[in-house]
Amino acid sequence: MTDPTPADEAPVCSSRGCRAPASWALRWNNPRLHTPDRRKTWLACPAHRGSLGDFLDARGFLREVAALPTSHTLEA
Ligand SMILES: [Zn+2]
Repeated sequence: MTDPTPADEAPVCSSRGCRAPASWALRWNNPRLHTPDRRKTWLACPAHRGSLGDFLDARGFLREVAALPTSHTLEA
């Protein structure tokens, strides 16, 4: 009766192929697809925050970047 799924599912980076735990939420909106108050969220690990953020920012989609609340903060 072992459950292989971690009880606390850590959010994982949205970058393709990356399985690192995410520590940032990039909130974005594509005005051609979404109403102005709609927010899509990409999660990013520290290594991909820049590249994902640049991708969205270059298209004018990036609205805000928020640090994810983590229950395992190492830098408290
Ligand atoms: Zn990543």
